[in-house]
Amino acid sequence: MIPGSFSYHRPSSVAEAVGLLAKLGDDGRAIAGGHSLIPMMKLRLAEPAHLVDLAGIADLKGIRSDGNDIIIGAMTTQHDLIGSDLLGTKIPILRETSLQIADPQVRYVGTLGGNVANGDPGNDMPAVMLCLNATYHVTGKGGERRIAAREFYQGAYFTALEAGDVLTAVRIPVPPAGHGSAYEKLKRKIGDYATAAAAVVLTTSGGKVASCSIGLTNVAETPLWAQEAAKILVGSTLDAATVKKAVAAAETITAPASDARGPAHYRTKMAGVMLTRALARAKAKARG
Ligand SMILES: Cc1cc2nc3c(=O)[nH]c(=O)nc-3n(C[C@H](O)[C@H](O)[C@H](O)COP(=O)(O)OP(=O)(O)OC[C@H]3O[C@@H](n4cnc5c(N)ncnc54)[C@H](O)[C@@H]3O)c2cc1C
Repeated sequence: MIPGSFSYHRPSSVAEAVGLLAKLGDDGRAIAGGHSLIPMMKLRLAEPAHLVDLAGIADLKGIRSDGNDIIIGAMTTQHDLIGSDLLGTKIPILRETSLQIADPQVRYVGTLGGNVANGDPGNDMPAVMLCLNATYHVTGKGGERRIAAREFYQGAYFTALEAGDVLTAVRIPVPPAGHGSAYEKLKRKIGDYATAAAAVVLTTSGGKVASCSIGLTNVAETPLWAQEAAKILVGSTLDAATVKKAVAAAETITAPASDARGPAHYRTKMAGVMLTRALARAKAKARG
């Protein structure tokens, strides 16, 4: 399939990109790695007349500490996330999740910003961002604003981004030292999107769960933050009965589509299985 024709723009600053997108209105679209957008254009599900390529904006790349937060530029690739020692030490769930996205070829160009801005419930990073309580830095016509990941996703391909907005960075509070985390993803084959997946970040104290956060991928129109399920687990040793109760609470908030990855009921149950596995692995890694 061949995409429709389009004009190509390559700004060198965020201000220039925002200005261009404002001028182009509905005819313009930001492009990052292109590994979600180009396939959509080939299928004619997206037909932007103008592409504004963010690849020439040096400010959008890189990973740095800012107090107790880590800030990751939107154009940082999934490959960069895997190679970052800072993330490997401080927020290892990002490396673990990146390694489960697609294949190396996609990860070399697919960006964190594109993955979280895309709004596809099949993308893996959004649920991890809900789990980590990340904040998105967005610049638009009215200047910069910050949007909590937990308030960003409104429906499939429908987010808090407004026309002309550029997501510039993702700010993530570093989880406490000694935390445990895991991302468990069921997929039909290497490189596939999730049938269901679960992200867990938890801390323990005296063998009991002191804090817990859970995100779920591809079992609703948006990524899900399973707040009630996590609450049930706090104070427990992750004994089988409590985990079962929490898993049931997580399953209750899912509403997956029946599709080529399986019927809705199966995908809900697989979310529960992924959560059970992620909890066990996260607890095994936690020190406290
Ligand atoms: C074969 C294949 C398998 C894949 N498997 C997986 C998988 O298992 N899990 C997974 O999560 N993903 C998967 N992907 C998607 C891949 O991770 C994409 O790279 C990613 O979803 C989008 O990132 P991108 O940089 O390519 O964004 P693009 O495709 O360039 O953009 C995606 C959307 O986000 C918008 N956008 C991008 N950046 C910004 C920004 N900074 N500000 C505002 N809007 C922006 C664009 O306008 C567009 O609407 C797969 C892709 C392929 C081709």
